[in-house]
Amino acid sequence: MKAILDHVGIAVQDIEQALAFYREALGLEVHPPEDVATERVRARMIPVGGPSLELLEATSPDSAIATYLARRGPGIHHVTLRVEDIHAAIAQLTARGVRLVHDRPKPGAEGSLVAFIHPSAAHGVLIELKQRAAPDVNLSVKKLPFGDLQLTTLHDGPFSLDGGAMFGVVPRPLWEKLTQPDERNRIQLAMRPLLVEASWGRMLIDCGAGDKMGPKQVDIYGLDRTRALDHALAEAGLTSDSIDLALATHLHFDHFGGATARVGEILQPRFARARCLIREAEWEDATHPHERNRASYLQEDFVPLKEAGVVEFFPGDGQIKPGIRVVRTGGHTGQHQVVYLESGGQTGVFVADLIPTTAHLQDPWVMGYDLFPMETMAFKKRFIREAIDREYLVFFEHDPKVAAGYIREKNGKRFVEQVL
Ligand SMILES: [Zn+2]
Repeated sequence: MKAILDHVGIAVQDIEQALAFYREALGLEVHPPEDVATERVRARMIPVGGPSLELLEATSPDSAIATYLARRGPGIHHVTLRVEDIHAAIAQLTARGVRLVHDRPKPGAEGSLVAFIHPSAAHGVLIELKQRAAPDVNLSVKKLPFGDLQLTTLHDGPFSLDGGAMFGVVPRPLWEKLTQPDERNRIQLAMRPLLVEASWGRMLIDCGAGDKMGPKQVDIYGLDRTRALDHALAEAGLTSDSIDLALATHLHFDHFGGATARVGEILQPRFARARCLIREAEWEDATHPHERNRASYLQEDFVPLKEAGVVEFFPGDGQIKPGIRVVRTGGHTGQHQVVYLESGGQTGVFVADLIPTTAHLQDPWVMGYDLFPMETMAFKKRFIREAIDREYLVFFEHDPKVAAGYIREKNGKRFVEQVL
């Protein structure tokens, strides 16, 4: 099993007194106290690099910390190791005859699951296993009338990408304040295609990753397919056969992989009736990948569409359908584009990977994945100004919580007012 040090628990007689050493003498930053009623302890966390020290004080004489103090005096009480799957960890230990305090996980702080290994098995150390709470991703399906258009935010389930790669040159101590990475340094993201319904038909803007990935990729990208695009379409009262058009912002797997499906050995269009609208130069780039973007442009995602004769190329910026206009941003890929939705005097913009999440509002917060980061930054700078001034409703494809909102600015700080 993979385990990383989460924290070291230190039993103290009096937390506030202990601060004279940990906070004043050592000069460490100490978090506010937190009472854990079920354990009858008060805790204060002290971050020290990745892991933390946890000062523990008994709040009742029958607390385990009180018993420990009475028997052994203050000192290191336990070491907590974070594991990805606590049930698997317990099963592995049980199979080897390791003595556990808990043979099944119990709820810990902040939705985590914990279980203790008996000190007799761990050479005198009480070891706590901890699995962090499953991050909850906003997978709601919401309809929004928008002039003559009816918009519905869909989803293709959650997935995860490397946190460092998602924030480019921004160091982890800054981005982890906005989004907590998991044991493998990945951050939780969503794939959120947008459905546009109009008199001219039903259009999907992007369509998620789909179900063609093998077990290794499913593991790497943390794909969770228990609730994906088919479920979201069903929630909206539709099926994949209801789609007339699928528009690609670009051809990366997490945006247009869902346009094809594997049926037995055969790859075929996933939306039986849909024409796929693809920018011609993006197709050129996607079908001629280089070492840097080969892992994102998977030929099986889009080549079968051409073979099935369902691709409609368009040359560049402009109106695709009434109310639907594409604008090339470049940056992320050479031909990456955003989609303007314009109807009834309102403007919405599906920004795809220009601003993948609401944590990417600051100009230099640009993904390491971007092929041309300076181009992303320049476009984003102009666009965000425009979006604030003209009150665009911005659709965030990858944000784990916010499907759409208005970008606002107050005292020079940008934030998103969530709508969906
Ligand atoms: Zn993406």
